[in-house]
Amino acid sequence: MSAAYQFCPRCAKPLTHGAVDGGSARWHCPDRACGFVHWDNPVPVVAAIVEHEGEIVLARNRAWPPKMFALITGFLEKDDPDPAQGVLREVAEELGLQGRVEEFVGHYPFPRMNQLIIAYHVVAQGAITLGEELVEYRKIPPEKLRPWPAATGLALRDWMVKRGLTPLPFEFEALKAIPAFREIDSKLGTAGQPSAEQFRAVRSAGYQTVINLLPSESRFALQRERHIVEAEGLRYVHIPVAWERPQPEDFEAFCAALAEEAGRRVFVHCAANKRVSAFVFLYRVLKLGVPRAQAQADLEAIWQPDTVWSRFIERMLAGAGP
Ligand SMILES: [Zn+2]
Repeated sequence: MSAAYQFCPRCAKPLTHGAVDGGSARWHCPDRACGFVHWDNPVPVVAAIVEHEGEIVLARNRAWPPKMFALITGFLEKDDPDPAQGVLREVAEELGLQGRVEEFVGHYPFPRMNQLIIAYHVVAQGAITLGEELVEYRKIPPEKLRPWPAATGLALRDWMVKRGLTPLPFEFEALKAIPAFREIDSKLGTAGQPSAEQFRAVRSAGYQTVINLLPSESRFALQRERHIVEAEGLRYVHIPVAWERPQPEDFEAFCAALAEEAGRRVFVHCAANKRVSAFVFLYRVLKLGVPRAQAQADLEAIWQPDTVWSRFIERMLAGAGP
């Protein structure tokens, strides 16, 4: 790990790295009387989704590779009266445009850069003149935008969704490589067993919670899956469902888990999406009131349930379960 400071900026002693006040490790001054700690708190950065003549302006920074375009961003400055004014200052500096804040989009952590992105939708007028940091720009109709799986891309995605647009899931191609992957809607993805690497695509695609219906002792199970999933920063819920004996309690636990995760993007998997497709079918019909034919089409896209599972489904539909 590298320190932003090698020496204490107060007393010039070499900094040491270790726990501070029983908390996380921080670079700090060994002299207790001095007490300097480099807390390394996230830095606020303002970002603008700039709408210009009905299109969104994405720009490429001088330091970025070709074809990499993103939102207009900049550090919040000491003299900015507030972030909304700061973002308008950045738009003026980087694009030469006068803008007004249409809407606050959200806050987005950007851990890789230790930043907190504060994102706004800005409507701007005038002729675009690029500032020193930028080398080129593109104007893209809102419906053609392809958000990327990092802080400002997440802001762009949320903004699109709010406008009723349907951005492609991030890394959709990587998701499609997961066995029997099927997206039910923007909040719910289903699949067979992903590999450890594929859980990264699940994360990058914007899923926030993984629900696993496959018992750990199954020969299809991924060893240490909870650890792998949680290391990606995802929530993990394990509801093992015996292939030969699915129980109404399993289904109720599944429904309770989905209720618990309401509003989050949930990725549900088992071995081959068979358990999952059956549970999701029942959930949509019984809990969401989705027309049976519609839910059934998604189920049958995966498989034709066998005797055990057909009986289970009929039993649950008949209200025999809890
Ligand atoms: Zn010191």
